[in-house]
Amino acid sequence: MRETDYLREEHHEFEKASRQALDNTGLQQVLSKLGDTLGVQNRLAWESFPDADQVREKARSIKEETLASLDTHLEQLEQSVEKLGGTVHWAETGDEACQQILDIIRQYDGKNVVKSKSMTTEEIHLNRFLEKENIRVTETDLGEFIVQQVDHRPSHIVGPALHMSVDEVQKILSDDAGEPLSKKPEELTAYARQRLRTEFASADIGISGVNYAIAETGTIVLVSNEGNARLTTSMPKVHIAVMGMEKVIPKLADLPYFLKVLARAATGQKLTVYTSLVTGKRGDEELDGPEHFHLVILDNGRSKILESPLRESLFCIRCGACLNACPIYRNIGGHAYGGVYSGPIGAVLTPLYDGLKENHHLPHASSLCGACEAACPVKIRIPEMLIQLRSDLHDTQGTESWLQRIGYNVWARNMRWSWAYRWGTWFSSRTIGRWKRKAGWITKLPFGLHGWTQSRDFPAPAPERFRDWWHKEGKDES
Ligand code: SF4
Repeated sequence: MRETDYLREEHHEFEKASRQALDNTGLQQVLSKLGDTLGVQNRLAWESFPDADQVREKARSIKEETLASLDTHLEQLEQSVEKLGGTVHWAETGDEACQQILDIIRQYDGKNVVKSKSMTTEEIHLNRFLEKENIRVTETDLGEFIVQQVDHRPSHIVGPALHMSVDEVQKILSDDAGEPLSKKPEELTAYARQRLRTEFASADIGISGVNYAIAETGTIVLVSNEGNARLTTSMPKVHIAVMGMEKVIPKLADLPYFLKVLARAATGQKLTVYTSLVTGKRGDEELDGPEHFHLVILDNGRSKILESPLRESLFCIRCGACLNACPIYRNIGGHAYGGVYSGPIGAVLTPLYDGLKENHHLPHASSLCGACEAACPVKIRIPEMLIQLRSDLHDTQGTESWLQRIGYNVWARNMRWSWAYRWGTWFSSRTIGRWKRKAGWITKLPFGLHGWTQSRDFPAPAPERFRDWWHKEGKDES
């Protein structure tokens, strides 16, 4: 693998890509600020929101109830969209969704597509598919536009170009402009704004994702901070919205709970700058909006997840807060995970969508510290799901080495027989514990255990066992 391939390609070797990310000084500088920017904003937003806990619980319970009768809500959504003159398409796989979208584009003789940010279209690799079919696709979210120019994958759910420095962005936009641009963020943004206006004006198709789809009204809700989603869905004559089937919510009255938690969790804002509620195509009396509206509802493995113990992963509202909180993400960034979704939730979703065997490293890419669960606006129990995936791996793939198998067996027996446990602790405290009495740490473990001490020390056993100390202090053994 070349040094920068992992920025583009999916499913590379996790360990190799992580090492490259750790050696990338520019990336490390960017990541070191993440905790002080998005991480702190997120924490402050919760602290200054007195009803935070109730609202988060409410949002979670709406997700739980919706998923319990998902088919009913999706059918209602279909009826509502069709009543408004839109067309609904059901796609079982990513390939099917891409083909359906291409057919819609061809139906209207479309050639130029503008897109607003959408993780679902990333998931199905829509851009790559459409470009092969000679359809021109322009990402209009600033971060997505930047990474598109250099063919990088987004590195963060809400900040696709988060891995880049201002210098890199300036170079990319200067290359696009064909002249050197200033390094001032406002001037770079002004260039992109001007450049994208011309794309909006010439586009015949607009493709957006869906943050929420309201079953009772057929409304598609989009949140953004740049206004590009609004232009994408209203300027071209055709609007195609692509959603994962878990994005449906039953009623308009449910929406405020999600809007309140999404903005706070994602960027620490009370509300995102633009919240667009798109209800059908342009009406007869209306001056703007698309003439045709299509909604593509994607399964792509979600039905199976719904039946599994990991169904809670479908609660995810793609806010990115768990990434900002995660000590692993904050060291290796998003690309090393190798899938479209990164961070703790990516470590759950990628094995579910793309195969556990192929992504066996991801459930282990966590210290299980629980920071992700604490940050998650809908309180998804990510550590539990990672443990479940580890257990599935053990049951089905048996990926651990012979050395690990022997080690776990010895450990299990030791734990089951109290005499063996007593003897083991006595022996280790008398030998290693006394030998390492001063340092308190083992800096190099032998044989197959050496990996543990490659980047950290291992605590040495205490020179005196707790049991011995207890007796010495004259306490009761019971
Ligand atoms: S798992 Fe929770 S915190 Fe992470 S992206 Fe999804 S909703 Fe946000």
